[in-house]
Amino acid sequence: MKSKVLILFLVIACGVAFALVRISTPPRTSILSTTNLFGVTQENQTEVFVASDVSQAVEQGMKETLAAAVKSWGSSGHLEFWVLGTDRAAAIELTAKFCARRVARGDMTERACLEDSENKDHGFLMYQAVGAEALSSGQPQMDAANNGGAEWGIHTLASSLPLGFSGSLGIAGEGDQITILHEYWHSVQRSFLQTQDQSRSQELMGPTWFVEGSAVAMAEITATKLWASGGLPKWNNSPQPWPTLEERMTNKMKIVQQLRKKCPSLLPKSYGGECTQLAYESGGWAILYLMHKFGEDVLRKTFHPNVERLGWEECFRKTFGQSSAEFSLEFEKFMDLPLSQQIKILPKY
Ligand SMILES: [Zn+2]
Repeated sequence: MKSKVLILFLVIACGVAFALVRISTPPRTSILSTTNLFGVTQENQTEVFVASDVSQAVEQGMKETLAAAVKSWGSSGHLEFWVLGTDRAAAIELTAKFCARRVARGDMTERACLEDSENKDHGFLMYQAVGAEALSSGQPQMDAANNGGAEWGIHTLASSLPLGFSGSLGIAGEGDQITILHEYWHSVQRSFLQTQDQSRSQELMGPTWFVEGSAVAMAEITATKLWASGGLPKWNNSPQPWPTLEERMTNKMKIVQQLRKKCPSLLPKSYGGECTQLAYESGGWAILYLMHKFGEDVLRKTFHPNVERLGWEECFRKTFGQSSAEFSLEFEKFMDLPLSQQIKILPKY
């Protein structure tokens, strides 16, 4: 079973710029030991691999963003981030490098890796095509994915060319920083689970609004905090100034208010269809609402350390003092408030 979702992120400062983010999680079976599945230590365990046509500025942007993520949230364990450029030959070269690494680590045979039918070319050529298409059409789009890897004791992530870091099409580097933080947060969520059973881990990750909403919320507020403290540099490489947290969340709220007219729920429980976007935008607001009530560290310090033991719903109930269904009703009322009241819950840095 493969879950995939296509999401449109409207970049508020740039009316025509959309970044298309695809998340795919192929199924995996595994045989690793059940303790410390990802080999978590206190260090930065992230590694970045870029195609040969990807600039040093992109590689640097990736590395410094991942380092800041680790510093903010801790290590999620061994993590590989594979970044594609726009050149096809360079993408094929990177696929070969990926397979050589799998073979060297005893994860896969070379043949199995090259013939992996579930995820042909490990999606690398798809990511390369996305970047190439963006540059040739002038229509900004980016795909990023967390591709699992638990059976090898790692997180494998991949993306098309980060247009902001590469200084392309007037896209802001700050948007790429948020995308990288978002993907890294998914690895943090997963790192709290020791199960190697794919369906069990999906169940423990929770409904889609919770998985994606928390990645949105954590990335948005952490990036804002890091820019304010100097923990991450601002890129200032877009013609429009990068919007504030309040402006970015206001933009998400506008999307939510449009979509809620035709979607059955503000908080989608699974991927699929255009209402999935609510899992990100409305889910992001839902998590910020919970953080406003229970503190910014509630996920990392309270929720995630207990979720595998308690199960998702029970952990939600214990952490937030109500069932997820009760929360959903409370949140609907919050979303009916005027914007001027809603934005009061946003943290200030
Ligand atoms: Zn996500």
